Amino acid sequence: MYLYADDGFLPSAFVSHTQKRGNMHTPTLRRSARASLALIASACLLASCQNPDNRPADETSAATPESSASHSPTSSGPATTEATKTSATESEGPRATAEGHVVVLSTGGTIASTHDKTGAVVPTVTGSKLVEPLSGTFDSDKLTLEVKDIAKLDSSAMTLDDTDSIITAVHKELQRKDVDGVVVTHGTDSMEETAIAVDTFQDSEKPVALTGAMRPFDDPNPDGPDNLALAVKTVTDPANRGRGTFIAFADHVIPARGAFKSDTSKADGFANNNGEKQPQRPKALKFKPLGNTRVDIIAAYPGAPADLIQRSLDSGAEGIVIEGMGAGNIGDELAQAAQAAAKKVPVVLTTRVDHGPVEGIYGGAGGGATLADAGVISSGTLRAPQARMLLAAAITTGTDAEDLFAHAE
Ligand code: ASP
Repeated sequence: MYLYADDGFLPSAFVSHTQKRGNMHTPTLRRSARASLALIASACLLASCQNPDNRPADETSAATPESSASHSPTSSGPATTEATKTSATESEGPRATAEGHVVVLSTGGTIASTHDKTGAVVPTVTGSKLVEPLSGTFDSDKLTLEVKDIAKLDSSAMTLDDTDSIITAVHKELQRKDVDGVVVTHGTDSMEETAIAVDTFQDSEKPVALTGAMRPFDDPNPDGPDNLALAVKTVTDPANRGRGTFIAFADHVIPARGAFKSDTSKADGFANNNGEKQPQRPKALKFKPLGNTRVDIIAAYPGAPADLIQRSLDSGAEGIVIEGMGAGNIGDELAQAAQAAAKKVPVVLTTRVDHGPVEGIYGGAGGGATLADAGVISSGTLRAPQARMLLAAAITTGTDAEDLFAHAE
């Protein structure tokens, strides 16, 4: 495997945006550098990636190793194959199989973070450093990793402009004839948003995988290297062609649509709301920047007042996502405002419950059935963060939101 640290591409929007951030790091430009890597084996990686969609039936019951300096993140995860699991970067044995040319786009997050003097975790590490621990994991004659730093952001600080830059960068790499797949290293906080945004505009058959880490780069036992190796394997697996964008994390390869961060601290921090099913993906939208489209998320709770929605519209929201209760129900006052809003802008109803579909079952002013009759759109299996991105994409591109969400059922 050869590594290229090459920042041939840096979207101009991203440069100006990241430079504006006082407390954020500007992208680091690096010249081309090549390293031939030692051969270290990874039976685990090979095993866990041969069957990337083999997830536990119930994601919530998956074994979830605690974040711990002494704990190997792959040693007690859910059994995806019968093969022995060992750390990809520590094991000896046959090299993992991955062939082709993969571009790794580094955007920051815990995977690229180290502790500062105060002990706080901040993104500091370049993409080329991130791939170094993979040295020897793959066959250097068969796999090329090309690394580009496009940001160093905590993903909770990302804006839609940042999302646009990532979509643009991914798109550009996928267009290249010599590239077989793209990996985006990303913070976990908003990975589900970026994943669905990339997926929604992904007009290439080539796979894309987002990955990150729950433990920082300078942790004595970081989970980033194994996750990154899994992502590389995911995008080089021919079986994943035409299946869009994935989140590759802690031995699980989860389709972007319906994925969500399910734990604030465990290494196995992602789940999906589609069970074993491969979600249906709508036809890729032609990319238009999302940055100027405001879609607000409003959390419904018992007694939530109507003016939450009105204030949002008054502030310029072009679409509203309501995070309802249960299967998708909200209180009477908020329901009246939602029904009025649905006459002016697309209003999407989701739920605060992790798993299961949003269904129009109940009557009454704020029941899901009543809201559906009033033109409120069900988010299906998507939750608020992803519903917001999809609605923003619909509004920006002039796509009927109902059509786009129909695929999320
Ligand atoms: N705050 C971090 C981020 O989203 C968390 C992580 O990466 O796990 O960038």
